[in-house]
Amino acid sequence: MRSSPPLWPWLLLPLVVLLLPGDARRLLLDLLGGITLALLLLPLIGGGLAFLAWRVLRSRLRTCGACGLTSLGGGSLCPACGTPYSTDGAPAELSDARNATINVEAVDVSDDPKSGTPGNSAPPAR
Ligand SMILES: [Zn+2]
Repeated sequence: MRSSPPLWPWLLLPLVVLLLPGDARRLLLDLLGGITLALLLLPLIGGGLAFLAWRVLRSRLRTCGACGLTSLGGGSLCPACGTPYSTDGAPAELSDARNATINVEAVDVSDDPKSGTPGNSAPPAR
């Protein structure tokens, strides 16, 4: 089991600070205040910068109206399909996938004479 660090140096710290002469006490208090302020403010500043960077990145993303690819490129054509982006800068409206029709053509490969391997439904004729 890992033992916790001793607590008595932290309890003696205010006493040491109070016993120090004026300039050293002031310097130590300023140093502790600065460290505390930096530890509290750095996550807030970092979070704010990350939020601003995310907003800038989102404003530069463009979505192709033809294929739906979202890209960050600076060109005027979609890198996937070559369709020009819309000039107004707004993201193009994508078609609703629920109403899309997909044409599926079923091909029976078991009776294909070119394949050479007869399927279960075609017994060999003699
Ligand atoms: Zn595209």
